[in-house]
Parts: sequence; C-alpha cells; structure tokens
Amino acid sequence: MEKEFLNKLYMKSRADRIKGLALSNVISTEDAILLKDDLHLPAEVADHMIENQIATYELPLGVAVNFLIDQKEYVVPMAVEEPSVIAAASSAAKMINLAGGFQTTIQNRTMIGQVVLKDIPDMIFARDMVIKHQKDILQKANEAHPSIVKRGGGAKEIIIRPIAADKTFQTPSFLVIHLHIETLEAMGANIVDTMVEAIKPYLEKLTNGTALMAILSNYATECLATANCRIPVWSLGKGEYTGEEVRNRIIEACQLAIADPYRAVTHNKGIMNGIDSVVLATGNDWRAIEAGVHAFAARSGQYRSLSSWSKAENGDLLGSLTVPLPIGAVGGSINFHPAAQLSKRILGYQSAKELESIIVSVGLAQNLSALKALVTEGIQKGHMGLQAKSLAISAGAIGKEVKYVADHLKQRKNMNLAAAKEILRQLKEK
Ligand code: NDP
Repeated sequence: MEKEFLNKLYMKSRADRIKGLALSNVISTEDAILLKDDLHLPAEVADHMIENQIATYELPLGVAVNFLIDQKEYVVPMAVEEPSVIAAASSAAKMINLAGGFQTTIQNRTMIGQVVLKDIPDMIFARDMVIKHQKDILQKANEAHPSIVKRGGGAKEIIIRPIAADKTFQTPSFLVIHLHIETLEAMGANIVDTMVEAIKPYLEKLTNGTALMAILSNYATECLATANCRIPVWSLGKGEYTGEEVRNRIIEACQLAIADPYRAVTHNKGIMNGIDSVVLATGNDWRAIEAGVHAFAARSGQYRSLSSWSKAENGDLLGSLTVPLPIGAVGGSINFHPAAQLSKRILGYQSAKELESIIVSVGLAQNLSALKALVTEGIQKGHMGLQAKSLAISAGAIGKEVKYVADHLKQRKNMNLAAAKEILRQLKEK
C-alpha cells in the first residue's frame, strides 16, 4: 500500500479520492473505472432480493484509513449516513498505530441452533434420552447439510438447556436443545435452520414432547471477536488537558458506562457506529449483529459497556472490546451485491475470521474517538462541523451552494436547519 496517496483524503474531491485509492493500490484500475460512474445495485438484482421491491435505498460508502490490525494495513469501507463516523474512526486508528495498532483474537466461529420442545411429560427422562442419542442427533443434523460437513464444518456438539417455568412472567417450562454448528466462512443462518429443522421430529420422538420451533439463535456467544489496543499517554493530551488527565477521564467514562445503563446504551451505540458501517459495507446482516451485541452487553443481568479501558503499567491507555460477530465471508448477498464485492476487494480479507478482526477493531477505534471527544472538548464541536454539510443539503443546497452554506453555518452561534435555510435564501438573493 502506497500510503502517501491516502493523505488528507477528506480534503480531496471524490474523483481525486478514487485516484488516490488506485495509486495507493487499495483498489484496482478496473474498480477505479467502476467507481467513476458510481456503483449501483442493478434493478434486476434488487428485484430478486426481496419481495415487492420498488426501488433501492442508498447510503454513502466511504473509506476509513490508518488501520493497522494484526500487523496488516487496511483501508476500511464503511456504509453510513451519519457524518463524522469515518473521520472519527480514521483519527482513532492513527492514534492506535503509534503503539503498534490493534491486536485481535477470534475465539471460535460456532453458531447456535435451537430446537425448543414443550409439554415434556418427564424432563429427566427427556434429557437422558437426548444425552444417550447425541451421536444420532448430530448425524441427522449433518446429513441435512452434507456440503458443510465436506468442507470440514457441521454440527459438532449438543447442549441441553432446561428452562424452568416462571410464575412471575407466567411462562411454562421448555426443554431447549442447542446444536453447535461450525459454519466456516458463512454466517450460516440457512445452514443452521436446515439442520435444526431436520432434527426436530427426531427430538420430539425421543423426548415425548412437542416442538415449538427450530431456529438459529442470534445470541452468538460462541462466535466472539476481541480487539486490544494501547495508546501512548503522551499522545492523548488535548486542549487544557494533559495526556494523563485525558487517559484518566476516558477510564472514568468507561467506568460510568459499566455502572449506568443510560450511559452504556449511548457508549455502545458509538461502538456500533463503526461495527454496523463495516457490517453493512461488507454485505452482512446488521440486524443479526445488533441483536446479538446488545444481548451480550446485558449478559451480567444489567446492560453495560461492551468495551473496557484501563491504565497500563507504564501509564499508557489500554483498550479492549469483545463482541459476538457472526459475520460471513460468503453467503447472503455478499456474493453478488456490487458494493459488498467492492468492499471485499478493498479489504482483501481472506476469511470470515479476518473480517471479524477488522470489524471489532473499527468498533474499538470508534469508541476511543467518541470517548476522547466527550471527556475533552465535547462531542458537538467536531460533529457539528461535519453535520453542517448535511444541514446545508437538508436546506436544499446543491453543488457549490453546499460548501457555501456549510461554511457560513459553522460561523453561526446556532447551527440548525432554520439557519441553513436562511443562509441559502440570502445566497440566492445575491
Ligand atoms: P447462505 O444461505 O447463502 O449459505 C452460505 C452458503 O455458502 C453455504 O450454505 C455453502 O453452500 C456456501 N459456501 C461456499 N463456501 C463456503 C465456505 N467456505 N464455508 C461455508 N459455506 C460456504 O447464507 P447463510 O447460511 O450464511 O445465511 C446468511 C443469510 O441468512 C443472511 O442473508 C441472513 O440475513 C439470512 N438469515 C438470517 C437469519 C437470522 O439471523 N436469524 C434467519 C434467516 C436468514 P454449499 O455448501 O451448498 O456450497
């Protein structure tokens, strides 16, 4: 990667940015030509993707720079409508590079399928029967999707989870059978659903119960990704605050998000700004990731911060983020959506594990940027600077008017839509 062409991308025109990406070998000449005409989901493809399709809903696709993850440099595509997300990710990644970038660990990539049984006459008998016939159950599951088994994956383990009746919520007892499935490079929803549906009648027979449903669980606790980083304390100083003060205030901000769910939700929303944008850009299912991540944040019984920030022995700031990330490198729309395909070529990821490492690192970078801004100058200064363009567009500005309105808006005490409209009106009257 020839990094000099990536300097100050935000100051360049879209055409020059694309040129810069091509010169730095982040994208090929073919992709540069493709991007020149913009990238669209063909109507024919969109028509077949969902039911009753009438149009496409577009988002801007941008790139975050400066990412060094497990010693490999990345330019990261992000699909997002919110200004400042990409700028924040890029600037945090630059800070994190000072001490060697992100180090990641992907614990495993096992998906969980649930078969839920009800009206079990004898729970102990039912549980014993499932334990006794584990091998047969796994075999039946694997026979339902032989191609994943041939690739080295498939159903590997069974976990039995009796759910007791609860008088407070008036819920009956259930016997939930978890099937642990290695779906390899796929997110695996369809693989999992095929397998659990296939074993459902057999489990009914074994347990004398009635199946209520068989479906993937999006609470992907067996598919966790962790990113760690270190920021030299001297690099953290900002405005009136020394590096030590900023470090301490970031740690305190994280402690608050551990203790207070009202703060934790916003803290984690900031993390998801980064995670969702890459999940979306790479053609993955962001609803699945969102649902799992927030459940994981509440695993202690209270909704808490997903990240942790602490002080290293030498005084540096240490950050860590662990989230469930059941994303795929194949499957769903990844194989045919033109933007997902472009994102794959930009990132050059070789596996779903590598993509998980990238996504969790972006989440951690996003968190650092937000926390640093919050505990120093506040979030509005940087955010509203970038928001000015959105306000200008909302006010009806087009072409060169956008920059004019945004620049004038930034000088106003109150930066809002009414002010943007007034500036635009004055410009048009000139
Ligand atoms: P697909 O159904 O597209 O399945 C992926 C397929 O890719 C596999 O079945 C496999 O087919 C093929 N494949 C090729 N190479 C590999 C490899 N190396 N490793 C694994 N598979 C490989 O996608 P998923 O099953 O991943 O499901 C994801 C989709 O399901 C998403 O679009 C999601 O939105 C949706 N979904 C989500 C649900 C949820 O989250 N609750 C529920 C239902 C659907 P083969 O072996 O036959 O070649």
